[in-house]
Amino acid sequence: MRVVLLGAPNTGKGTYASRYLTQIYDIPHISTGDLFRENIKNKTDLGRTAQEYMDSGKLVPDDITTAMLKERLKKEDCKKGFFLDGFPRTVEQAEALEEITKIDIVINFVANKETLIRRRTGRRICKSCGAIYHVINIIPKVAGFCDECGGEVYQREDDKPEAAEERLKIYYEEIQPIIDFYEKKGKLANIDANLDVNDPSFHVIDDCRAVLDKIK
Ligand code: AMP
Repeated sequence: MRVVLLGAPNTGKGTYASRYLTQIYDIPHISTGDLFRENIKNKTDLGRTAQEYMDSGKLVPDDITTAMLKERLKKEDCKKGFFLDGFPRTVEQAEALEEITKIDIVINFVANKETLIRRRTGRRICKSCGAIYHVINIIPKVAGFCDECGGEVYQREDDKPEAAEERLKIYYEEIQPIIDFYEKKGKLANIDANLDVNDPSFHVIDDCRAVLDKIK
């Protein structure tokens, strides 16, 4: 099952995918942002190039991003499928993805602007393993340290207010043509993501399952 996840920063799509959907469907969560951060951590040439764009809240050029993703999707763990998060971010990337693989469904997490603004400056991330936390609704058991690996939990440069504003602006500018692209192909499923990830009714995951179980 090859799934693209769309949604503005802080719709929670990364959290839903990495904490729940990958376990339910036993396929990996591939985030291009995480792949870049891994390259930065490992001090690769790709990481050095990507960092300049990421620190200023800009998109990394399409050719660099697409080549990196193509390599990742060739790996064994993607044979049964994947949840792709953070890609495509441009129509050129969506077209390139069509050349690389067939996408079964695109889940679009939709939340209103106030919800996104409230959430986005609260996100924290583990420096070592990339686990995602939030100052209000996903608090680590020991303040400042990751539940999974004990790594330091911090606020990413691109979650700070100025860069976050820039990311949201870029997102809205770029996303509509991509939504149109997949809607025309009949592959778009919208999910209401206004409730928080620890909402007791957990309807976001139920709604995702209703869509995904049809194509399993
Ligand atoms: P994310 O973790 O998805 O918010 O991505 C963090 C940053 O990585 C973005 O602000 C971009 O600079 C870069 N990035 C991630 N995915 C892409 C992509 N598909 N195309 C271009 N840049 C990307």
